[in-house]
Amino acid sequence: MSQSAVNEPTSRKVIVVGGGIAGLSAAFYLQQEGKAKNAALSITLVDANPKLGGKILTEKIDGFTIEGGPDCFISQKPWAAELAHQLGIQDDLIGTNDHQRKTFVLNNGKLTPLPDGVMLIVPTRIMPFVLSPLITWPGKIRMGLDWFIPRRPGRDDETVGDFVRRRLGSEALDKIAEPLLSGIHVSDPEKQSLLATFPRFRSIEEKHGSLIRGMLAERKAAKARKSAGARRVSLFQSFKQGVGRLTEAVETALTDCRLIKDTRVVSIARGGEWGYQIDLSSGETLTADAVVLATPAYVAAELLAPVSLDIARMLNAFEYVSTATISLGFRKQDIQKPFMGFGFVNPSTEKRRISACTWTSFKFDHRAPDDHILLRCFVGGPGKEEMVELDDESLIKIARAELADILDLTAEPVLTRIYRWRKANPQYNLGHLDNVRQTFEACAKELPGIYLTGSTYEGVGIPDCVRQGQQVAEKVMGFLNETKEESYL
Ligand SMILES: Cc1cc2nc3c(=O)[nH]c(=O)nc-3n(C[C@H](O)[C@H](O)[C@H](O)COP(=O)(O)OP(=O)(O)OC[C@H]3O[C@@H](n4cnc5c(N)ncnc54)[C@H](O)[C@@H]3O)c2cc1C
Repeated sequence: MSQSAVNEPTSRKVIVVGGGIAGLSAAFYLQQEGKAKNAALSITLVDANPKLGGKILTEKIDGFTIEGGPDCFISQKPWAAELAHQLGIQDDLIGTNDHQRKTFVLNNGKLTPLPDGVMLIVPTRIMPFVLSPLITWPGKIRMGLDWFIPRRPGRDDETVGDFVRRRLGSEALDKIAEPLLSGIHVSDPEKQSLLATFPRFRSIEEKHGSLIRGMLAERKAAKARKSAGARRVSLFQSFKQGVGRLTEAVETALTDCRLIKDTRVVSIARGGEWGYQIDLSSGETLTADAVVLATPAYVAAELLAPVSLDIARMLNAFEYVSTATISLGFRKQDIQKPFMGFGFVNPSTEKRRISACTWTSFKFDHRAPDDHILLRCFVGGPGKEEMVELDDESLIKIARAELADILDLTAEPVLTRIYRWRKANPQYNLGHLDNVRQTFEACAKELPGIYLTGSTYEGVGIPDCVRQGQQVAEKVMGFLNETKEESYL
């Protein structure tokens, strides 16, 4: 869009602050809605980084495709794949290499496969579970009791730790739920809200009275869909070029949006009788009818403090933890003891310095040159955040020592790449849903036209961020429509 069109006096102005997937989706769906409704809309997206995408960060180095942040998204939540279709990049979608799907759990220092048929954390096939050495006999019997334990009355929230202990027992929590579920949310299961992170488990309990019965019913339904000819989509998806393909495609599609990169929003003030004034680090001041804040909550708090200390205080209550990823590329010929699968997780009871390792080039194609492999180790998270501040050399040394110990992998890596994610993982602790609701209500009441969105609030995964971007775009359009007459424009 030409600059003059952007500044047309009659157009309503929306500023999106933050060009991660949530902000990009918000801008994209605003543009779509604006076109569909033939609205005179001027959209500007401002991001602090020179490259858009936020935590979605794909790099190509020496034939490797390296993900600094997310490496895939769950297909059961449709919004990311839908966005890919709307952008016309659906042919670039890829699934995981399910023929070699195997996840391992470190158990007393030895890699032990997660038994076949475990869906999320629930066993759905008897024999592989019974024969698995991962869980002791008393632990297996305790997990089986889920079939008989009555559902919990009431709809109160509880921690993921309490829920899993209540239904499946402590061993299932320590060996399966804690490393797998907290790996997704990077949080402490003893604090993590069940209803904010895995509401599906509570729904299954309510509907079927047992997780095992519920998961068996889901498996049966999935089989029926398959035999009725439904196309099988891998549980996790990415793009041939890496997850960054998605954010790059959104950026390309934002033809009617002014993109301001490498520039921070430094403050937000009321714009006189109506709207807001947004000061940028470049010295420019923008005006807006509506502002979408798609940044972490602590950034939104800083920006909104001059207009509402109350809301800033509420936003500052959202907690985050820091993590880092260490990608290591190896020549295949240097691997002495071959391995196959998607990777392993380390329960915290194993007291290891890496929490998990993804075998990236086994999980997805197009991630390493044919004669190489790519692995990715994770460090940091609750109680271990200080590790993120170690220097590169120390982190690589730690990752290599752990891989040597766990995988017998002593080869010299041909490539190493570290990404530090400080205060990047929002903690959906008990009370999160109430905090989000109260913050949103206060914002709507005190600061009409200001909208909060992104991974801090209603889902951390990429599909949830896309959905939130889409929903916030609808809310902004509704607000602009309602306030047409009052506009100073
Ligand atoms: C290591 C890691 C692995 C992950 N793995 C997965 C995975 O496999 N699958 C999955 O679904 N999810 C995964 N996630 C979660 C997911 O990547 C994030 O939740 C999601 O990308 C966050 O998107 P967002 O738009 O909410 O925020 P962000 O990506 O953080 O975007 C916020 C943007 O705001 C900008 N900004 C900040 N301050 C300002 C300012 N003052 N002015 C202007 N701009 C500003 C930043 O530059 C940034 O671009 C992972 C996260 C991490 C850290």
